[in-house]
Amino acid sequence: MTTQALRNTTTVWKEQDRRHHIHPFTDSKALHAEGGTRIITKAQGCYLTDSEDHQILDGMAGLWCVNVGYGRQELAEAAYKQMQELPYYNTFFKTATPPPIELAEKLAELAPEGLNRVFYGSSGSESNDTVVRLVRHFWNLMGKPDKKVFISREHAYHGSTCASASLGGMTAMHKQADLPLPGFEHVMPPYWYDFGAGMDPASFGKKAAKAVEDKILELGADKVAAFIGEPIMGAGGVIVPPETYWPEIQRICKQYDVLLIADEVISGFGRVGTWFASQKLGIKPDMMTMAKGITSGYLPLSGLMVGDRIADALSEGGDFNHGYTYSGHPVACAVALKNIEIIEREGLIERVRDETGPYLQEGLASLVDHPLVGEVRGMGLLGAVELVKDKDTHERYPNNQASIACRDHCIKNGLMLRQVRDGMIMSPPLILTKSEIDKLISILRSGLDAAKAKLG
Ligand SMILES: *Cc1c(COP(=O)(O)O)cnc(C)c1O
Repeated sequence: MTTQALRNTTTVWKEQDRRHHIHPFTDSKALHAEGGTRIITKAQGCYLTDSEDHQILDGMAGLWCVNVGYGRQELAEAAYKQMQELPYYNTFFKTATPPPIELAEKLAELAPEGLNRVFYGSSGSESNDTVVRLVRHFWNLMGKPDKKVFISREHAYHGSTCASASLGGMTAMHKQADLPLPGFEHVMPPYWYDFGAGMDPASFGKKAAKAVEDKILELGADKVAAFIGEPIMGAGGVIVPPETYWPEIQRICKQYDVLLIADEVISGFGRVGTWFASQKLGIKPDMMTMAKGITSGYLPLSGLMVGDRIADALSEGGDFNHGYTYSGHPVACAVALKNIEIIEREGLIERVRDETGPYLQEGLASLVDHPLVGEVRGMGLLGAVELVKDKDTHERYPNNQASIACRDHCIKNGLMLRQVRDGMIMSPPLILTKSEIDKLISILRSGLDAAKAKLG
């Protein structure tokens, strides 16, 4: 199509979008006042193409999910084949189909020790709702019906349904919907840069873990059902806890018999250079949520891995009155199996662990000399850059101005990155090459320069 034709089509789509489409987590009025929606029409490898034919390096892997990159014929073929053979059948009534069964065995092989059974959903939010349902049912079965409260962290993201948003610690979400529901408590996150003033990271990690212990003691251990956390907080700003944090959390949960739940929706399937971040960080969860990278986003699928203690109790407990029409969807599970096969065959996890992960972290570290950069952090192919007005006091510019200016510059110059508070975050596809990392860091640096020039 000619440039003019592309523009005309884009104008029509933008108008349809403006009239009829409500976007998640979006200020619609501002969106359409500022030129409307960017429409992505194609993608290949790590590159997106928009409706006006701009090429954009996808530093976010879609929404933290396109781990094997775009344009994988094999995944399309796996879906096509399964759709022709059997597009759908349920798993409710003593039936199942082969893909969810085969995938369950594979997931048990890959997951941290002791997590041998899976309950499927179609999104991370659904699987975190399953967490709430299953944990409460478990404590009822154990004869402890008062053990029902969940402890989570401020800035946590666990999804957007009422229960998963209650688990989450996003105050902007809570405010609009009278959340959290009763029975959800939030404590300080292991976020050294904002909460650790005057402390070294190791001491702060213990302090942040102690906030969980204090909350358990305040509520009474006989009331607390579970603690849930992302091993590395994602949407809250890629917050990497100090090394002292998770071992303490592990100890505390064990001491008070509080279930430990790892939300690995982002950190799973190779993102940090192991199948799951729990394996890298030495976390032994009782349950673990997975989604996003499980299919590299090619189809919606999620799963909750359930530890033996809970699964054994569940299997003695009669009907579990919970499930989704699409639990164990055969087409999504067939795609997940093929996606896992690609990750294994191409050695993507080893590549992130040994090569591209360390290289991205070095690239980020090279940005600390920039006047706007207060801190960089990350692990594997997750990264964050905190932008500040004053490096000593950590003072920020008002209204996230620095990160918004930086993000806008990056997208305009061919790099898709996201801003959270006054910081930049990234989570590129696991197939990203070193030269693509060079490009990412170089555009990011020019974005920082542009933001600095704008803010003075
Ligand atoms: C994205 C996300 C979820 C929610 O997943 P959806 O598929 O959007 O419902 C849950 N937990 C974490 C850590 C996430 O990043």
